[in-house]
Amino acid sequence: MISLNTSAHLNASVSLHDDIQQLGVIVVDDSSMHRYSAHLCLRAFGINQVYEAANGKLAMEQLAQLPQMPAVMLLDLEMPVMDGIEVLQQLAQLQHKPAVVLASSSDEVLISAVATMAEALGVTLLGAFRKPVNPADLADALGSYNAGVCRLEQTHTPVETDVEQLKTALDRATIQVYYQPKIELQTMGIAGVEALARWKNSQGEWIPPTVFIPLAEEHGLIGDLTLSVLEQILQDMNGWWELGQFIPVAINLSAKSLAEFNLANEIIQRVIRQGIPAHFITFEITESALVVDLPSALATISRLRLKGFGISIDDYGTGFSSMQQLSRFPFSELKIDRSFVQGAPARSYIGNILKSAIEMGQRLGITTVAEGVETEAELHLLKSLGCKQAQGFLLARPMPGRELLGWIEQDSLRKQTLCQTSSPG
Ligand code: C2E
Ligand code: MG
Ligand code: MG
Repeated sequence: MISLNTSAHLNASVSLHDDIQQLGVIVVDDSSMHRYSAHLCLRAFGINQVYEAANGKLAMEQLAQLPQMPAVMLLDLEMPVMDGIEVLQQLAQLQHKPAVVLASSSDEVLISAVATMAEALGVTLLGAFRKPVNPADLADALGSYNAGVCRLEQTHTPVETDVEQLKTALDRATIQVYYQPKIELQTMGIAGVEALARWKNSQGEWIPPTVFIPLAEEHGLIGDLTLSVLEQILQDMNGWWELGQFIPVAINLSAKSLAEFNLANEIIQRVIRQGIPAHFITFEITESALVVDLPSALATISRLRLKGFGISIDDYGTGFSSMQQLSRFPFSELKIDRSFVQGAPARSYIGNILKSAIEMGQRLGITTVAEGVETEAELHLLKSLGCKQAQGFLLARPMPGRELLGWIEQDSLRKQTLCQTSSPG
């Protein structure tokens, strides 16, 4: 399963989460030779507790008997008695389950499909590789153990709300705007920010935009919400401007907004009234929004572009008929969905899609932005592929407007210190 040719990485120190050291790793593979080489590699990484099973059934029996669940399962797909797909389905039923690294001789498309299935089932996937797995890739996958667990936790916070609460929030202007920096990858300086709506209800709970944006769309409140968000952004931009910072802002426009003729007019007038040059503002529009009402979407987007605003295709790769849309709409930016960014370092099939998206953006002469960068491995890959900008928790979390200038200052101070400490003498 593991190629031992790349012995350099076996000697290098690999930094692993305590759980992996304490709880160990289980290797599930029907080939005794592959199990043996995986065992050696894991030992070389400093992992003492390594279990082995020759097929899925034996692995599940072993897990049931172990006093503590291993932190990670290194899982083959093709095995007699019980294959890797069934193991993943059974793992999904368990309350405590190991994170998984897939390793298979199947083709990359199939491995990627199983990887997607595992994630959809709620199994934390650290990596999915073709055999023989390179020790460096395995080390990176094990090194992402913590991030993988955190990602899973973020998606499980159910919050309830209703349209009356939302109306009150809009009337009282309690929906705020947070800003998440986007970084220029060549210089690592700030390229701009994305404005993200934030709502804390009267009980002090944060309601995610993925809950209240669809609610606003459904009840005809999205126009009001967009304009309220826009007003705050224009005020913040003017405030930063007065302090000498010209920060470009990206604003999300929902599918429903594109169909409202007057909303585009309102946006244009308000921006002109506040004296902000249009090229400082980019509107982010999700791919799926473009198919809702094509003529209206084309009209709104073309009018905004004509006025000099930027237009970004958001969550690129998750919608429909992307090629056709790219040729029809006057986009200035391609914002690649985080599923292609986060999957890329550990899944070469996804990595290839990321590479093609970046190359297509470059050929079209538009800015490429990668969303959801959470690890150094993702950042390095994006740089090496020539992606222009990146955004994600690794670089900065969304923050209130009043904190942004402080963040920029701290960030540039940190970079200066890094330069000084790394310069000779
Ligand atoms: P989006 O436009 O794709 O925005 C990026 C989302 O990814 C934000 O979620 C941001 O907090 C999150 N994010 C950023 N970096 C990372 C990362 O490294 N890891 C992970 N896991 N997530 C990251 P948020 O703020 O919850 O917004 C969700 C969606 O709601 C947005 O997706 C956007 O489509 C919509 N939205 C937010 N604000 C507005 C708004 O003012 N108007 C409209 N129409 N939609 C909005
Ligand atoms: Mg966006
Ligand atoms: Mg997005």
